Amino acid sequence: MENLLALTLAEATPVQREGAGPSFQWHWHAAGVLELAPEVASTRSLVLSTGIHGNETAPVEIVDRLVGALFRGELTLRCRVLIILGNPPALAANKRYLTCDLNRLFGGRGAQFPACAETARATLLEETVTAFYQQVSDERWHLDLHTAIRASYHERFGVLPQRSQPWDEPFLQWLGDAGLEALVFHQAPGGTFTHFCCERFGALACTLELGKALPFGHNDLTRFAATHQALRALLGGEAPQAHTGTVERYRVVQQITRRSEAFRLHMAAHTLNFTPFRQGVLLAEDGEDRYEVQKQTEYVLFPNPGVAFGLRAGLMLEKVIF
Ligand code: ZN
Repeated sequence: MENLLALTLAEATPVQREGAGPSFQWHWHAAGVLELAPEVASTRSLVLSTGIHGNETAPVEIVDRLVGALFRGELTLRCRVLIILGNPPALAANKRYLTCDLNRLFGGRGAQFPACAETARATLLEETVTAFYQQVSDERWHLDLHTAIRASYHERFGVLPQRSQPWDEPFLQWLGDAGLEALVFHQAPGGTFTHFCCERFGALACTLELGKALPFGHNDLTRFAATHQALRALLGGEAPQAHTGTVERYRVVQQITRRSEAFRLHMAAHTLNFTPFRQGVLLAEDGEDRYEVQKQTEYVLFPNPGVAFGLRAGLMLEKVIF
């Protein structure tokens, strides 16, 4: 089972579905879904997911290394963890998704799409996560590791789902220690995996965007060293190496949605994430709808004019002073 990634890419079913590792019991639930329960008492249940987008391979390699270290006994597990490789067929094909974007389908939103591999996968992941979190009542975390499509003014950043309760400062501090340079706070619900875990289970959840998407074997994992180290410490029940620099905070102030064939995004194709725009600038048009910068300065995130109708073609942010 130490070869979870290879097994998942080969779409193989293991002969043995549960067993004992050096410091934990393991249970293989489904392709790319592996639960580890530590021998020591734990106070945290962590969902550690990656490969929700199949072409975002760097964090998949990081998680694969962590699983290997646990099974070889180089790392002692001290928290419950559910490891998820999100979209196995898309990972094997090195594609973001096969039919529809898995990270828009959570919270039952898959029902709005024709049934496909991704709608079935979203349902399976929701059920598995529900069973995992409901077994115990300890602190719930969900870290969903991605890489971004485009280059960015902040190379590594986190996107946090809308949350009615205030965020836990030690959790935000941990994200900074994990090498994130900026945190983006959603103000509205969404179909992401992290929103599902936060909304349904109160999980401290973050989508980590760790640099630019590249194929397997082309990732420079030294760029992810802080994240790798922080995850290793988290699994081992230790504090990460403290990060002292400031972590910028942003909140979402508007979403640009592509609704029709007439949609035009008025940004250069290579526009970086967190590029600032001044008040009054026309960002996009969709027939009669016009999107302009409302605040003094807004920063763009995930601009993508090619999304399906009804989906997000970009987010606009403002900086939060704290
Ligand atoms: Zn992604």
